[in-house]
Amino acid sequence: MSATRTPLLAANWKCNQLWEDCERFVEQLQAELPDFFRADAEPGLDLVVCPPFTYLPLLGTLLENAAVYLGGQDISRFDGGAYTGDVSAAMLSDLECDYAIVGHSERRGVFGDTDEIVASKLKRAREAELVPILCVGESLEVRDGGHAEQFTLSQLDAVFEELRRFPADALVIAYEPLWAIGTGRNAEPGDAQQMAAAIRGWLADKLGAVADQVPILYGGSVKPDNAATYFALADVDGALVGGASLKAASFAALARLLV
Ligand code: PEP
Repeated sequence: MSATRTPLLAANWKCNQLWEDCERFVEQLQAELPDFFRADAEPGLDLVVCPPFTYLPLLGTLLENAAVYLGGQDISRFDGGAYTGDVSAAMLSDLECDYAIVGHSERRGVFGDTDEIVASKLKRAREAELVPILCVGESLEVRDGGHAEQFTLSQLDAVFEELRRFPADALVIAYEPLWAIGTGRNAEPGDAQQMAAAIRGWLADKLGAVADQVPILYGGSVKPDNAATYFALADVDGALVGGASLKAASFAALARLLV
């Protein structure tokens, strides 16, 4: 973690939680992290919750006075219109979202998001002034083949034309090796640092000074008992968390490691 970048912890609830779970989560989060619920809160950590779209208004109300940001889990690649099931970037902004997860491996793998689609989603995010949490990362096959870095950086190359249009303080990259997501398997800290440094090197090479300001997150089975090792890495500025973000106690425990 660097002294110059504000750390960031983002919860990706995926297709989990119901109304009551959202209420319980916020109630417990307030008990666990009271500093984030004070009027003059300046916690030094950007805390982001990305619930299913349906609960954004509820979370918006429950977190109204808290220093907790809201994010969408994805966005439509379209502006709006006849796209059944899609939620546009403008709709997320309208619901007080500041962030949106884009290019998550589950969107790429299960829903067929190509690099071209990811680029369109980045464009929509920028137009709506949402900060994208852009997910990149390799499969186990690619890692075992010795091409993890090449593959991951090629995902960035594919969306370079969009990335270069973002202001320095409006971009987050999450390195998430596919084989570590929801599996309980973790990347070796050395490998996570090597990849985060490679991503920062790519940013410096392609986007210049911005590189130092962009938070790079690690994601993949991050839990309170393994997170400190990742958070100590020079180029890792926080985490994108699935499973351990569903309960306020574990999410708060992760947050405490970053403040
Ligand atoms: C994720 O959803 O991006 C993720 C990293 O999930 P988990 O923490 O459950 O591996």
